[in-house]
Amino acid sequence: MVVEAIPNSVGFIYAILAFAALAWLWYSGRFTRRRAVPFLVVSVLLGYLVFAPVFPYQLQLLVLRDTAALGAPLPMTLVGTLAFIVLALVFGRIICGQICPAGAVQEVMHLIPVKKRGSAESRVPVAVRAGVFVVFLAAGLGLSVNLLGLLGLAAFFNLAVASASFFVFLSIVLLSAVVYRPFCRYVCPYGALLAPAASRALYRLRRTDACINCRKCERACPTGAARPDDGLGECYLCGRCTDACPVDGALVYGRGR
Ligand code: SF4
Ligand code: SF4
Repeated sequence: MVVEAIPNSVGFIYAILAFAALAWLWYSGRFTRRRAVPFLVVSVLLGYLVFAPVFPYQLQLLVLRDTAALGAPLPMTLVGTLAFIVLALVFGRIICGQICPAGAVQEVMHLIPVKKRGSAESRVPVAVRAGVFVVFLAAGLGLSVNLLGLLGLAAFFNLAVASASFFVFLSIVLLSAVVYRPFCRYVCPYGALLAPAASRALYRLRRTDACINCRKCERACPTGAARPDDGLGECYLCGRCTDACPVDGALVYGRGR
């Protein structure tokens, strides 16, 4: 369904503008899950219309040095890819929260009111994703294998239903109705780079002295990132914790730990 007439730079301009808007919403304390919905919808639509800004796939093409598919010179793509990792060092994983179409489509699916499964902890998913990252690099650099292509990321957004890989990613998306972001947490190689950056982010969610330790935020968090000792590498800035917090100003997004 990708519309060739729309340059994929449209997706990246959207990513920058949406990033600024979401960072402002978080910083000003106005972020809510309801306000995030339009971003999720536009991001998913852009995924289908221009297949951008699908960051993990950009990284895949970069590893494969596939300039034809990238539609841009390698250095420019490298700078763009690194820029959002630097932004994660400052603002956390805003890009994953609502902007990357692959993350957004899973986030939308998880809104479906069915019983949720999967544990809210990050050690196993992070370890699995680290292993996948090694395979991703070895396959891409050593064998020129497009691992994310095999998993159907491009086929899914291109609605290439004749391709078997379309159904692989479709299965992941369907699974995300019950398990929170299986692709982001267990597979995504770009997420594997964003997570360590986000765990050192300058601006982050933190509890203040107003916290009454009711732990509602922890129970609402699907990744275990709302625990006070968590580094927030697996915080997708979804807003479940801040929406669940019953005390104004107890859980804020701001500078410092
Ligand atoms: S973890 Fe990967 S797929 Fe998920 S939102 Fe982030 S960049 Fe996109
Ligand atoms: S619920 Fe968890 S993942 Fe979502 S914003 Fe809060 S800490 Fe981050």
